[in-house]
Amino acid sequence: MTTTTTDRYARSKELFAAAQEVIPGGVNSPVRAFRGVGGSPIFFARGTGSHVEDVDGNNYIDYVLSWGPLLLGHSHPAVIQAVNEQLTRGSSFGAPTELETELAKLVINLIPSVEQVRFVSSGTEATMSALRLARAYTKREKIVKFVGCYHGHADMLLVQAGSGVITLGLPDSPGVPAATASDTLTVEYNDVAGVTEIFRQYGEQIAAVIVEPIAANMGFVVPEPGFLQTLRELTTANGALLIIDEVMTGFRAAPGGAQVHWGVEPDLTCLGKVIGGGLPVGAYAGKKAIMQTVAPAGPMYQAGTLSGNPLAMAAGIAMLRTAFEAPEGETTLFERAVARTQNLADGIRSLSEETGVPLQVGNIGTMFGFYFLKEPGVKVRSYAEAKEYVDAARYSKFFWAMCERGVYMAPSQFEAGFLSSAHDSVDIAVTLTACREAFLAAR
Ligand code: PMP
Repeated sequence: MTTTTTDRYARSKELFAAAQEVIPGGVNSPVRAFRGVGGSPIFFARGTGSHVEDVDGNNYIDYVLSWGPLLLGHSHPAVIQAVNEQLTRGSSFGAPTELETELAKLVINLIPSVEQVRFVSSGTEATMSALRLARAYTKREKIVKFVGCYHGHADMLLVQAGSGVITLGLPDSPGVPAATASDTLTVEYNDVAGVTEIFRQYGEQIAAVIVEPIAANMGFVVPEPGFLQTLRELTTANGALLIIDEVMTGFRAAPGGAQVHWGVEPDLTCLGKVIGGGLPVGAYAGKKAIMQTVAPAGPMYQAGTLSGNPLAMAAGIAMLRTAFEAPEGETTLFERAVARTQNLADGIRSLSEETGVPLQVGNIGTMFGFYFLKEPGVKVRSYAEAKEYVDAARYSKFFWAMCERGVYMAPSQFEAGFLSSAHDSVDIAVTLTACREAFLAAR
């Protein structure tokens, strides 16, 4: 490549400098600042299908897809049409519309454990509300979360563990009250003994366990066989609720979410991203007997001016229908995206062998992820192991080498990747060619 990083991203850099004057850190969500890969963030101008274009006119195959929502790719005609039609009828009423019931029914049909759904406007609201509900329902206060699992930025969830098997939570950010954090018990992902010990000590005080069914905010870590089942058994035995946070995995790991993929039935499910078709939506959902605790059916208060927003509902309905409904005997667009994801992940596995770059590659449904390992043969099953075994510096080199070759992957080693139904075999072939070169460049 002859262009320098500076030339290639000149306009992005100008815009970043201007943004930093008026927006803290120049971004409205920290990961967008590209701290994980060094350098200055890329500003995007437009997206079509599997591709995005930045403000300097560079084109990329997009494996971030707005961090997951765009299951049909950018600007899918069905989503555009649905949003446009609704926009002409009204963008928000602050009153019920038929669309909310329609999207709720689609969700209920796709996710077997769900009987009722409450829509909110983000994944953070979904997890925050689900935990309030679990506390209201069980009349208990403690919650259990896993180190390296991200569930949005609500106070009680911005907590990770210190050292030791069981750690009483310490705030992960200034501004989170110590008292709030102290009710969050944390343990390493996949640590069956640790979570069993937490229940032995605190079982009667625990309202809920919240878990990512694929730990995709620390890379791509899958639950070891039996881990999620143990959580199900411990919560049931102790009168606590199991909350599976499918904000990222919902409608991606499988049509019914990762809970269906792994065969574990939660009491509550958190949703976001795909459910809004690219517009801001989240939801918490579950068994009717529990959901009836939510106001006005029950006493637990939770509300939102823009909750169930008609534009977002219309986009979500169009997204789910288009992705999962197909005439008898034809593959759905979702299944097509799953097949491409498999092709990509298999290709990356082969390249790891061919180039001798040690990787841990994972893929389920339309999601994938890979770690650059410091040495071959090690396996990352938890955040502690990710910190120990992952070569983050190598990922930065890889990331920028991929950008130069027209492929945009997550600007951090500790994030998952996503495909859409718009990604075709040419995209995969181009991506694997770029990967081969970038793996060699990053050696
Ligand atoms: N839960 C999970 C598993 C997530 O991945 C995220 C966001 N990446 C959230 C919750 C928070 O969602 P949001 O960013 O929409 O608030």
